[in-house]
Amino acid sequence: MPPNTPPDLNIRPRILYQVAKAAWEGTLFERKGEICHLLQREFADKATRRLVANQIRIAMGLEPNNSEEVINEYDAEALMGMGSEPVVIANPEACENCHSSSCEKACPLGAITRDELGRPSIDRTKCANDGYCISACQFGALADKSQFVPLINLLRQNSHKVYASVAPAFAGQFGSEVTAGKLRSALLKLGFNEMVETALYADLITIKEAFEYDDKVKGEHDFLITSCCCPIWIKLIENKFPDLMGHISPSVSPMIASGRVIKELEPEAKVVFIGPCVAKKSEAQLPELKGAIDFVLTFQELATIFEAAAINPSEEPDEENPLASWGGRIYARTGGVSAAVGTTLEKLIPRRAELFNPIKADGIPDCTKLLEEIRAGKREFNFIEGMACKGGCVGGPGRLLPPEEGTKQVNDYGNAAPAHTPVENPQIYSTLTKLGHYNGMPTMTGTSKMAAILARKLASVPK
Ligand code: SF4
Repeated sequence: MPPNTPPDLNIRPRILYQVAKAAWEGTLFERKGEICHLLQREFADKATRRLVANQIRIAMGLEPNNSEEVINEYDAEALMGMGSEPVVIANPEACENCHSSSCEKACPLGAITRDELGRPSIDRTKCANDGYCISACQFGALADKSQFVPLINLLRQNSHKVYASVAPAFAGQFGSEVTAGKLRSALLKLGFNEMVETALYADLITIKEAFEYDDKVKGEHDFLITSCCCPIWIKLIENKFPDLMGHISPSVSPMIASGRVIKELEPEAKVVFIGPCVAKKSEAQLPELKGAIDFVLTFQELATIFEAAAINPSEEPDEENPLASWGGRIYARTGGVSAAVGTTLEKLIPRRAELFNPIKADGIPDCTKLLEEIRAGKREFNFIEGMACKGGCVGGPGRLLPPEEGTKQVNDYGNAAPAHTPVENPQIYSTLTKLGHYNGMPTMTGTSKMAAILARKLASVPK
């Protein structure tokens, strides 16, 4: 190993496990110093011991402070709330001694730069907190702040009804035998009051996107950029293609829709999104979207919590409560949003479906290329879908399965859905009825109540 190169720690999974276990057992505050010393024992040099302490603080959702100890009189207060920005954190000391360029190469937005002394730093104006750099960093110097400590506290307190909104990419992630019903039972055992498929809210967004398409694509040069799922896709357009912003559909993501609808019906409830995405931690905190989602966990973090709580989802009873359609469930893979909106348009407004001409891109380089071509007028498509991860959300950095296997599982899960589109999904009408819509399908555009709930910029919801 060259001099001044940080050691290969590969210690983050163990740190997350120890922190989650102590949080689950209710002993984290007393034991955080002990956990720190337990893990630091393996490393003699002070810099690595500080790195371990910082990683423990990040796992607790706190800022690194370059101390060898995990003790701070304000920690208790910080742990009660949602993690603060920025989500992706670099350990400054480790980065100073690192000469690898793997994190720079992994960042598709060019947010990691080097100063005149060769030290890397994150340009926060470009960083979208996507988390790609974390898996590329072999020294464990980069990490995303975890939110599971305050979440475990919330579940232990039993003071609020807590919903888990689970992304459709969950299929197969916790084992091929772990159905939605088994995952639901495991989450209930963990202390959640209910699990819902985020895909049900993707169904609502599909309807809204179909109506938005009908509303905004009138002539041959009109096109709609779907904004549904991916915060990195939106950030890419904001940063590099601001002239295309006016074409973005005004719909929120299914994650935000799930939180808003649940809280519209139960204002005191807490909603936790669980998915493969690190960037969702940031999306949930955007000023215009804040309040819908209380905590965000990745699948990797949830798997660690299950392990710490000795819960094996595959051994839990299968109490499936089918909710979403095929269209909502395939949002998890590239092309899913376009397929869902296209088939829904055929049901809702058949005359407009004939001209529906979608295109999709996945991975930031391909998304960028597609947007450049759209800007240059080289493409004749009128519904533009982009997903930052290769393969779509099944390729998200917090996944547990390879993207190809995730895609297969998602397709199988979609094919097993009781309804093909949201138009045939009785759960949609039941949700709409609870929201006060008793007669058929509301258009969800303009100034309607549903449009306001599902709108990207929510000023106030008309009653
Ligand atoms: Fe997140 Fe990737 Fe899905 Fe975008 S494509 S929402 S970055 S997991």
